[in-house]
Amino acid sequence: MDDDEDPALRRIRSIAETLRGVYFPKWDPRREWSFYVWPDNQFCASLCDRRTKNIHIGDYPAENDEFIAALICHEICHAIVDGNHTPRWARRMEKTADRAERLQNAELAGLLRGDVALEMSYLSLLWHRYFRPTLHEIAGRPEPADFDVALSEMLRLVRRNEPLLYFGWNTKTFNECYPQARAEFLAARAGIVGHRGEEATDFL
Ligand SMILES: [Zn+2]
Repeated sequence: MDDDEDPALRRIRSIAETLRGVYFPKWDPRREWSFYVWPDNQFCASLCDRRTKNIHIGDYPAENDEFIAALICHEICHAIVDGNHTPRWARRMEKTADRAERLQNAELAGLLRGDVALEMSYLSLLWHRYFRPTLHEIAGRPEPADFDVALSEMLRLVRRNEPLLYFGWNTKTFNECYPQARAEFLAARAGIVGHRGEEATDFL
């Protein structure tokens, strides 16, 4: 189908055009970024490809324009800041929500804030369910690793065991999202080494 004939694409590009002017006037002055329809709503609702400068937005004919606008804002904030749900990305989203509030668009502001809350709780879930236990497991290994080695090892394990979780993670992003990880790992390692020490004295 020709681009101009696809109503989903026309709708996305028209909403994106308005958002550019109102919320992101300084972003993309040379108009290098393009918007497309994301054909598979199952995997994720939308996607920002920073390499090709393409943003893909799912086709949701039943949803209103603010819903589509919130998806587009989410991806433009990735385009501006980075590809992950880091605290910097969250701050850019909050700034956009503040502007929506000032412009009396409470619905968009609410959707953006809800989206940030959801992504932050997902980060917290990943930490408690996966990253923290894996770091503790590495801290308990016989050969003591320093934090940076442990972190690379943990990301290697995530990539191997949970390829979907690995999507987009690297050590820089991880440290931005989980500033507590280094202290947590060092405390766990110290505790385990201390415990081993106690065990050793028992045998004397
Ligand atoms: Zn995202």
